[in-house]
Amino acid sequence: MSIDYDEAYARSRDVPAFSNGTEGETWMANWCYRCLRDAPHRNMGKGSGCPLILVAMMSRTPAEWLDGPRDEQGRYSMADQYHCIEFKVPGGGGGGEPRPKPDPPGMDGLFPRPERATRMFVQPTPEPARQMAGAS
Ligand code: SF4
Repeated sequence: MSIDYDEAYARSRDVPAFSNGTEGETWMANWCYRCLRDAPHRNMGKGSGCPLILVAMMSRTPAEWLDGPRDEQGRYSMADQYHCIEFKVPGGGGGGEPRPKPDPPGMDGLFPRPERATRMFVQPTPEPARQMAGAS
């Protein structure tokens, strides 16, 4: 799903995301420069790039950028200052419907594809509390 710039701007906080260019570049090198959402613009000059970056360039902090880990003094790593919830991992990651590789053009598959199994985590049944010896 694409991100609308006007909506992203309206959601954003009116504070600069970074205190200087080094902070911004370090964070973007770790997130945006690997993100598939900005890849067409970054690699081929197509489109206008990720709207969240444009919002940040307007001295605002996108709502999609959640604070990354902080220590007890509030310090953070510049590369992990925020976690972008719109980050699209290289290689596709998980999520969404599974998309099996298509058969090569002009060739039928040798075998029918098996149904994809669903794995579910089942919580163990808790054991009832044992009565203490001597308790009534
Ligand atoms: S979606 Fe997030 S991580 Fe990806 S380019 Fe936009 S701001 Fe950067």
